[in-house]
Amino acid sequence: MRNFEKNIRKVEPYVPGEQPQKKVIKLNTNENPYPPAPKVAEILETMDIDNFRLYPDPAAAELVKALADYYQVGEDQVFTGVGSDDVLAMCFLTFFNSEKPVYFPDITYSFYKVWAELYKIPYKLQTLNEEFRIVPSDYYGENGGVIFPNPNAPTGLYEELDVIEDIIFHNRDVIVIIDEAYVDFAGRSAVELIDKYDNLIVVQTFSKARSMAGMRIGYAISNPLLIKYLNDVKYSFNSYTMNRVSQLCGVSAVQDQEYFEACVHKIIDTREWVKKKLTDLGFSCLDSMSNFIFAMHPEYDAKELFAALKEHDIYVRYWGSERIEQYLRITIGTREEMEVLLAFLKEYMKK
Ligand code: PMP
Repeated sequence: MRNFEKNIRKVEPYVPGEQPQKKVIKLNTNENPYPPAPKVAEILETMDIDNFRLYPDPAAAELVKALADYYQVGEDQVFTGVGSDDVLAMCFLTFFNSEKPVYFPDITYSFYKVWAELYKIPYKLQTLNEEFRIVPSDYYGENGGVIFPNPNAPTGLYEELDVIEDIIFHNRDVIVIIDEAYVDFAGRSAVELIDKYDNLIVVQTFSKARSMAGMRIGYAISNPLLIKYLNDVKYSFNSYTMNRVSQLCGVSAVQDQEYFEACVHKIIDTREWVKKKLTDLGFSCLDSMSNFIFAMHPEYDAKELFAALKEHDIYVRYWGSERIEQYLRITIGTREEMEVLLAFLKEYMKK
């Protein structure tokens, strides 16, 4: 080994879902099958590209204002980043700086572990119960902070706000981050607890319900003090994170509430219909409240099913990790896409 090797920061990176270059039925990365709000297209058509010479607004002030109006909070209570991955990475760096371990579930968004490793933050995985649910009392112990998604990923299970509040209440001396990437498909957001708990940060994204994964827009809502700390770290890392196009498109997307709600309803309707169809085929589906379904079949091996689906250009997600090696995560696409998936599964099971 060369001497310099020992000084290199080595990390096992997060593995994102595949982005195939050919056209497939893409149910593997929880993208929205519908286009962004129509106003976003208008913005792009009228954009003055001469402005591309100039750096974007480092504070993304217009987008921050649009989000502050939407959530009825102050502009000093909103932080934006390049996708919620960027926001979450900044949150890890800013708020998890203790000798004590940060708590998160054993089955959850696999990026948490990667950020903890990258920043050398100690962490402890708390085991979800048999039904893959969070056990609040597991998060009562002394820790360096808490983070989990609600709904959780990849299970899709949503915890009611009283469960979330219980965890926040028992962790008043550390920061609790609720990752709400999928909350629009589920229920109440923890944003309504922001005024009550000064240790709470809620993170959301435009990648799912707002159909803009390719634009990379995420944000956090909290109190002015925590947002200031977050901005201080961001400006010590990279000032101009979100590009001009994303900032403008983001504003248009937030302002089209009607389109947003229609899209979310369509996906929820399709989800419930697919859940029933999969159950009829013998699958066992967790009660997902997100834009994906986590399912297993007692008679068919998940890894083989995953490969067979891929072979037929239907991409879903498979991890093969402990406790979930027999599960597939299937994103909710259009009704037509899901019909193709179901028809394939029916044929597969006849063999
Ligand atoms: N949190 C969770 C739980 C997710 O599943 C994802 C999507 N991979 C993200 C955050 C990040 O999404 P984005 O960076 O596109 O906002």
